[in-house]
Amino acid sequence: MQNPLIIANWKMKLLPSQSLDLARKLKKASSKYAGAEVVVCPSFTEIAQVGEIIKDTNIKLGAQDCFWEEQGAFTGEVSPKSLLDYGVEYILVGHSERRQNLSETGDMIHKKVRLLFTLDITPVLCIGETFEERQDGLKDVVLTRQLHNALNGLWLNKGDKLVIAYEPVWVIGSGQDVDPEEIGHTHQIINQVLYDIFENSVVKDQIKVIYGGSVDPENVGAYISKASVQGALVGTASLDATQFSAIVVQAKKS
Ligand code: PEP
Repeated sequence: MQNPLIIANWKMKLLPSQSLDLARKLKKASSKYAGAEVVVCPSFTEIAQVGEIIKDTNIKLGAQDCFWEEQGAFTGEVSPKSLLDYGVEYILVGHSERRQNLSETGDMIHKKVRLLFTLDITPVLCIGETFEERQDGLKDVVLTRQLHNALNGLWLNKGDKLVIAYEPVWVIGSGQDVDPEEIGHTHQIINQVLYDIFENSVVKDQIKVIYGGSVDPENVGAYISKASVQGALVGTASLDATQFSAIVVQAKKS
């Protein structure tokens, strides 16, 4: 298997001093990350300082969101071009907390992904069903719709990369484990949809599908051991340097 991709999403959970402290701890631990691709996504307010701390390590810088235009009269928004200047290589797009709390639509998400491809930033497109949708047997329909809304009409040039993060909304922040068999199967369905949208070689060589939802050092191995799961998006457990490093180490073993 390729090196697992492990992305830390610090959300809006840390004060500036806590973010910088965590970044310094990860820097110290970073020799353990060889053989994995590790990305941290701090708040916008700490992007520059965290970027300074982790530069010259094997940890990459990510952001939790961006706007869908490079520049203009968009008060309060953050341009991905500015983020690029700070060394950001990955940006989360369409996280369920933004879809739910900020009414982010499929169209907005599509425009963000499209712009990121033009800037050579890797979009991490987050998709996932709610508990009600799952209960109603709509999981596959929801995932298919979210993928088509975000990606139809887009193409990846040589060198472009895309990450799909499958995150069941009902598992995020809940501490629940999900049957790894089910996760592996859902990732296969996601891959089928991707093959409908893109050429086979693009899906194989330029797209990774990772899992997110209460990933911790104990359960990560079982998820990553599924061939269709190429990494993890980690929220809560990424706020603790020891736990996060343990996740990376377990993922490499699996
Ligand atoms: C997330 O918010 O992307 C996430 C996966 O959070 P948690 O690990 O806390 O479930």
